[in-house]
Amino acid sequence: MTSHERPLESVLETVGRTPLVRVHDGPEEVAIYAKLESFNPGASVKDRIGRYMLERMLERGDVSPGGTVIEPTAGNTGIGIAIAAEQLDLEAIFVVPERFSVEKQQLMAALGAEVINTPSDDGMDGAIDRAHELAEELDDAVVPQQFSNPLNSEAHYETTGPEIYDALDEVGAVVAGCGTAGTLMGIARYAREQDPDTYVAGVEPEGSLYGEFFGEDREEGEYKVEGIGTHDPATNELFDPDLVDAVHAVADERAHEEVARLAREEGHLVGSSAAAASVAAKRVARSIADGGIDAPSESVVTVFPDSSERYLSKGIYRSFEEWEC
Ligand code: PMP
Repeated sequence: MTSHERPLESVLETVGRTPLVRVHDGPEEVAIYAKLESFNPGASVKDRIGRYMLERMLERGDVSPGGTVIEPTAGNTGIGIAIAAEQLDLEAIFVVPERFSVEKQQLMAALGAEVINTPSDDGMDGAIDRAHELAEELDDAVVPQQFSNPLNSEAHYETTGPEIYDALDEVGAVVAGCGTAGTLMGIARYAREQDPDTYVAGVEPEGSLYGEFFGEDREEGEYKVEGIGTHDPATNELFDPDLVDAVHAVADERAHEEVARLAREEGHLVGSSAAAASVAAKRVARSIADGGIDAPSESVVTVFPDSSERYLSKGIYRSFEEWEC
């Protein structure tokens, strides 16, 4: 957990070992627990992959101290990589499409990283291309690319998964949002090794298309929930449908209500992807309770990836109509 018995040498040692806390809105007979990832030093789940990917890449010699890490990212991953880069003697450059959150870009810069903007019209693909061009131009530069880097899910297999099983004797189901799907895949692989019957569910906003992996009809659309979902599931290199039983789609309105409920009733200041995960975890818990899902134990674990503070300026606690994405 985040209280440590001895003084620590660097902020990197505070990554992980986040609290696992009961969520109290599910059915009586099935316990729901959430891993509170805002307890990480950069206040999100992505600090785990920032530290893990850079440490492994340095060990493997993909980059050397004094070298540069370049990532196309608009969000939490940049903050996580920036913290690790600073501590591991690497320069960090982030390539960010212009339209993305100014707050996150300010935090990356405050952590000593360089932020380069690409035109919004070129989308994330434009940022990815520019990151690779820059890596070619520089000596000793590496692009981790969280969407295709197996170290992303490995970070969760090595840290988040074991932490959950340190805290609980049995886990019936794992429910987590899918952006890169690194979080879900790493935990799922670990969980299925503990018990192959563990029920595993992904979470996406309505309008996202991960459900198509399971033959479900999904209507492509825009969504306000931030950090999860895809319009192009076939290009996701980390998502492995064999490790997943279902992907639950959560409507923006439900996630928005749950953001407010979690704060008001349970004291959790979490972002919209955490709220979507909470909604889906409660659905899974109810199905376990009524026999619709056959899980090996009456407990559900989910992940709350970040804090609502990162989205206050987008009106996350205002009315649904006033909430911007
Ligand atoms: N929620 C938030 C707020 C995120 O930033 C991310 C990462 N995109 C996720 C959820 C999803 O995590 P993952 O990429 O591991 O699927």
